[in-house]
Amino acid sequence: MNQTRNDSAPSIVLRDVHKWYGEFHVLKNINLEVMKGQKVVVCGPSGSGKSTMIRCINRLEEHQRGHIVVDGIELTNDVKNIEAIRREVGMVFQHFNLFPHLTVLENLTLAPIWVRGIPKKEAEETAMFYLERVKIPEQAHKYPGQLSGGQQQRVAIARALCMKPKIMLFDEPTSALDPEMVKEVLDVMVQLAREGMTMMCVTHEMGFAKSVADFVVFMDRGEIVEMAPPSEFFTNPKSDRTKLFLSQIL
Ligand code: ADP
Ligand code: MG
Repeated sequence: MNQTRNDSAPSIVLRDVHKWYGEFHVLKNINLEVMKGQKVVVCGPSGSGKSTMIRCINRLEEHQRGHIVVDGIELTNDVKNIEAIRREVGMVFQHFNLFPHLTVLENLTLAPIWVRGIPKKEAEETAMFYLERVKIPEQAHKYPGQLSGGQQQRVAIARALCMKPKIMLFDEPTSALDPEMVKEVLDVMVQLAREGMTMMCVTHEMGFAKSVADFVVFMDRGEIVEMAPPSEFFTNPKSDRTKLFLSQIL
C-alpha cells in the first residue's frame, strides 16, 4: 500500500539543519526530503531530537543553521511565512492538547471561526464531517474530560484536519494511550495515509511503519543515522546503533 512519489515537488525539505538549545547541539546536519503524498516514520531513542526536528517544521522551534522549506516556503523569521506554514501543516501531539473547557465541537470550530473567519454553521458542518471520519460524531457535545484517551486523540486529529492541512505531523500520538486504544488511533492514521496525506510521524509503532511508511528515519543523538524503506530498515539495518535500537523495541 505504500504511496510512491506521485509528484515531483518536495513537500518538506531540511537541508544542513542545525539547532542548539544554548550550548547543547540538539540537531546536527539534518538532511531530509519528503515528497508530496509520502509518509515518513521517525524513530530513535528518547532525547535523540525527534520532537525538536518535527517541531522545527512548523516553527514551534527555531533552527539556527541550514534551510527548512515547507511546500515551497522557506522558514525564516518572516512572520508571514510562519503564518503561511501554520496554515498548511497540522500537528498532533502526544498529550492531545485539547481545550478542556470547550466541547469537542467547539474545539474543532474555534480556529476555523476565529483564525480563518469561516461562518459558524460551515465550520460546524466541517467539524461533523471530520468527526464522522474519526468515528466519533456522537461525542460532539461532550467535553474532552468525558472521553477516553483514544477518543480525545481522534478529536485532536479531526481538529487538525478541520484546518485542511496539506501536511500532517504527529509526535508520538499513541504513546500516552492505554494499549487497547492504540489501534483505534492508528486505524485513523492509516486511513489518512491511504488517502494520500503527506505525513511525518514520530512513533515506535513499527507495525504502522511497516504498513504505511515510504521510509523510516532513525535518529540518535541529534543525527539522522539511517534512512531506508521499511522493508530494508527492519530486515537489513546498516548501523550498529539502529540494530541496537531495533533489538530493544521489537
Ligand atoms: P526526543 O523527542 O527524541 O525524545 P527531544 O527533541 O524532545 O527528543 O529532545 C532532544 C534533546 O534536547 C533532549 O536532550 C532534551 O532534553 C533537549 N531539550 C528538548 N527541549 C529542550 C529545551 N526547550 N531546552 C533545552 N533542552 C531541550
Ligand atoms: Mg519527543
